Amino acid sequence: MDYRALAQLLFPDVTETPESLEEKYPPRDLPEGAIVTRMAPSPTGFVHLGNLVQGLTAERMAHQSGGVLFLRVEDTDAKREVPGAVEVLLNTLKHYGIQFDEGATIDADQGAYGPYRQRQRAGIYHVYAKKLVSEGMAYPCFCTEEELAAMREQQEANKENTGYYGKYAMWRDRSLEDIQSQLAAGNPWVLRFRSTGSIERQFKFDDLVKGKLTITENDIDHVLLKSDGIPTYHFAHAVDDHLMRTTHVVRGDEWLPTLPFHIQLFQSLGFKLPKYVHIGPLMKMDGTSKRKLSKRKDPELALTYYKAEGFPVEAVYEYIMTLLNSNFEDWRRANPTAPANTFKFSPKKLNPAGSLFDYAKLTDVSKNVISTMDAFKVYDLLSQWAQEYDPDFGQALREDPAYAKKILAIGRGGKKPRKDLAVWKDAKPYMGFFYDQYLEQARFDARFDKAVIARVLNLFLASFDIHDDSGVWFEKVKAITTEIGFTTDMKAYKADPGAFPGTVADVSTFIRLAVTGKTNSPDLYTVMQILGKERTEARIRKALAAL
Ligand code: GLU
Repeated sequence: MDYRALAQLLFPDVTETPESLEEKYPPRDLPEGAIVTRMAPSPTGFVHLGNLVQGLTAERMAHQSGGVLFLRVEDTDAKREVPGAVEVLLNTLKHYGIQFDEGATIDADQGAYGPYRQRQRAGIYHVYAKKLVSEGMAYPCFCTEEELAAMREQQEANKENTGYYGKYAMWRDRSLEDIQSQLAAGNPWVLRFRSTGSIERQFKFDDLVKGKLTITENDIDHVLLKSDGIPTYHFAHAVDDHLMRTTHVVRGDEWLPTLPFHIQLFQSLGFKLPKYVHIGPLMKMDGTSKRKLSKRKDPELALTYYKAEGFPVEAVYEYIMTLLNSNFEDWRRANPTAPANTFKFSPKKLNPAGSLFDYAKLTDVSKNVISTMDAFKVYDLLSQWAQEYDPDFGQALREDPAYAKKILAIGRGGKKPRKDLAVWKDAKPYMGFFYDQYLEQARFDARFDKAVIARVLNLFLASFDIHDDSGVWFEKVKAITTEIGFTTDMKAYKADPGAFPGTVADVSTFIRLAVTGKTNSPDLYTVMQILGKERTEARIRKALAAL
């Protein structure tokens, strides 16, 4: 077979050569050890936690080494493409602090190694397709769907491996004439790789996460170009990662089964093999067993979920870091205020089997992260979140920022900051009572006589002075307690509860309920200071009227 003639027959319009492409996309001028890596998502519009895990791993590896992170859009599967998906992707990743140095952007491409959208690279793939054909490493296949289905059926009946290989590779060794007549008839064809691999042979491979692997060779003549001339992921990524001078491929381990073919491809194309970082899946506990997070069953897989719940970006980032590098937590304890990107990230510390996603842990991390923020930052992030997800609350926050910041400053800044908020969604239940429109009506414990409660509230109103310090304020509460015959001696009460009609804690609860609508709130004195004289008094009057 004259492979050069076949190549010319299949790709008459390809005039560029691999050599000219090598010149056009020269090796990058980067310091020794700089990692060039990428995110290469398909634009399906669904951005999930796995993308973030992969993105952060790639981002850390690139930027920590003084290298490059780029975004390549793998849009070869037009059926799966969702309009606007690239925008969603870029915005979501940016939200989580992943910035690309080059690649596809919302409007155009940025960088010297583009285009960065695979559909715009068809001409480039054809150069390499032509090269493979001219060297006898690829050939056209005119099999119909029916023929392929029949082949599969036969293989299943024979209990053989399925796929286009060996004796089943019908078009592997067909004559130039056969091919010519099919082309002349205008029959569609795909380009297949001519595998020289054998499943009887194995080789060793070193993955940065999985470690040393023993891999069985690929014997399948996989499709390189589909009938519309668009490449498959396998072929496209090999060409792209070579020409874009990728040093490390960071991707999910669902690609491990096709790795033998990828390695073959790089070799056949004369490309240096990049290093591979195959990340294990994200799993969760389901009852007592672990399973992979699923798009269908687990809303927490989607990144939009975290934004909508109101997890601060820092919290998700910190949590993912603890998930990826188990020493991150110790580092964080030793360096509580250091920027997270000063942590020395190592892909080798990733668990090869994947990571166990623990929502409760994320919540804990988030509580810690929020507790270390100052009130100004909390206000900014919370009001931004509320504007989008709870506009009514957002409006309340923005109407009086100084008031909101005073509320948010409660219990902040000390050695043991309060940890009331894990997500911004928690804010309204926690602090909504400061706003009259969210104040719930007080529901007093039916064990106490309404007349007693009314007496407490009236006495409090009569003695209330907003200028009192907290000491004086509490003395007044104690005085009311004594006056109504309740006790201030909690020890005595605990020893013999039946001996007292109630305690100072009950009196405080009456007042708290009247002022906040809740039995639980931050320090009541502080709450009143923030509410101010008028609002505090009005609330007590209202509670009295409702008794
Ligand atoms: N387009 C592939 C995906 O969506 C990319 C895999 C890779 O990063 O190489 O999973």
